[in-house]
Amino acid sequence: MDSKNVMIIGGGIAGMTAARELAEAGLSVDLVEKSGFLGGHAIQYTCKATSECLQCGACSVEKMLKDVVGNDKITVHLSTEIETIENSNGYSIKIKKPAAFIDAKKCTNCGICYEKFKEDDLILQGYSKNNTPLYAVNREKIEENKIALKEVCPEGAISVSDTASFEDLTAAAVVVATGFTPFNPERKGTYGYNRFSNVISGLDLERIKRRNGFLARPSDGAAAQKIAFIQCVGSRDENLGNLWCSQICCPYALRTAESLKHKNPDLDVTIFYMDIQNTGKSFPAFYETCKDDIRFIRSIPVDIFPVENDNLNMRLFDETEGTPVMESFDLVVLSIGIMPNSENKPISELLGLALDQDGFFQNSDALNKTSTSNDGIFIAGTAQGPKNIAASMAHAGQAASGVLKYLGVTE
Ligand SMILES: Cc1cc2nc3c(=O)[nH]c(=O)nc-3n(C[C@H](O)[C@H](O)[C@H](O)COP(=O)(O)OP(=O)(O)OC[C@H]3O[C@@H](n4cnc5c(N)ncnc54)[C@H](O)[C@@H]3O)c2cc1C
Ligand code: SF4
Ligand code: SF4
Repeated sequence: MDSKNVMIIGGGIAGMTAARELAEAGLSVDLVEKSGFLGGHAIQYTCKATSECLQCGACSVEKMLKDVVGNDKITVHLSTEIETIENSNGYSIKIKKPAAFIDAKKCTNCGICYEKFKEDDLILQGYSKNNTPLYAVNREKIEENKIALKEVCPEGAISVSDTASFEDLTAAAVVVATGFTPFNPERKGTYGYNRFSNVISGLDLERIKRRNGFLARPSDGAAAQKIAFIQCVGSRDENLGNLWCSQICCPYALRTAESLKHKNPDLDVTIFYMDIQNTGKSFPAFYETCKDDIRFIRSIPVDIFPVENDNLNMRLFDETEGTPVMESFDLVVLSIGIMPNSENKPISELLGLALDQDGFFQNSDALNKTSTSNDGIFIAGTAQGPKNIAASMAHAGQAASGVLKYLGVTE
């Protein structure tokens, strides 16, 4: 067994950071990512700079992706999952690669397949040009579209008869960087997500901005003029049993609002909140600046219903006046938070690791948040609990240091 080979599960910012750190220390890394693209959730985010950088961290993901893809010590396994793992003098791991359907060696990234099938959701597009190939076949849609798919690629890179394959790998240590699942806002039924077209989530907002270059209303593509953000959607919610603060939704809502206002000073933005979470040294000063441009209302709306022109009426309780209030907006953004990855239970059983009471991976040593009950397995990023991009990178750096010590590379 190669004693200096490390397996990283999850190719988001945490997994990529750990991979790069370990490769720079001279180790070989297998980076296993279950989706067709590296970068995790954060590769979808847009720059939130105004006349200055607001330190949202989005650009660091793109930079890390470049470093990982170009690193010959890192082998990236896309659309791949761990089938079995055994621990005897290191780890013996079987990985499963479901049929990819697109041959990365033949695909030229021309995008013809995507243009033809994007409306049907049959071909998916990655968020970064550094992903190769940039396109993937949506496995859930392949059965009924095999004939059409066969003909579309001029390079012959799409093969609908592709089948799953398995590979046996070994690793002296493992890093679990499987990330989080965003809160599904449909669970807050009174907000009408997926029923009212102009109620979107924070994640939808990023995707819309990336696709259109501006914040277009889903109903008619017009630039939104009067926007409400509702904070703590899915987090700090006793009814849902989610008592934790996700840490990231206040900063992303405020930075997004500031960056939108910078581009369109006439934009009307209101943030409905319980408490604004102060994260980081410079955040309190930034929050003070935001108060000049953004209206903050300390109340969480009760419900939302549609009115003419697909606008939205919001009902809330004015705590200062002690009266119910109604106000209309043309776009409502639900600031969804970080939930444990919905697959944490099977992954934890596969690896023999414990989860904490909320469902995130439990660190075994209170003073070392990357530790697990299994000496050769480390946790990195939001798999362990809510974190922003910078904190996920720092945590992954600590996990990589733990691996290097465990393998005797450093003291
Ligand atoms: C709406 C929203 C906006 C945000 N905006 C910001 C922002 O502006 N700035 C900021 O700093 N932070 C922001 N965040 C937080 C940011 O998304 C996280 O800090 C970051 O994505 C964490 O990275 P990660 O690698 O831990 O997890 P993820 O990004 O979730 O990546 C995990 C990766 O592991 C893969 N994976 C999962 N399970 C498996 C498996 N079994 N096998 C193989 N691979 C697997 C996933 O496919 C994914 O690629 C935001 C979060 C949300 C919800
Ligand atoms: S605002 Fe965010 S993406 Fe833009 S330069 Fe600053 S950190 Fe990078
Ligand atoms: S960061 Fe803000 S919006 Fe998110 S859960 Fe914490 S307090 Fe609520």
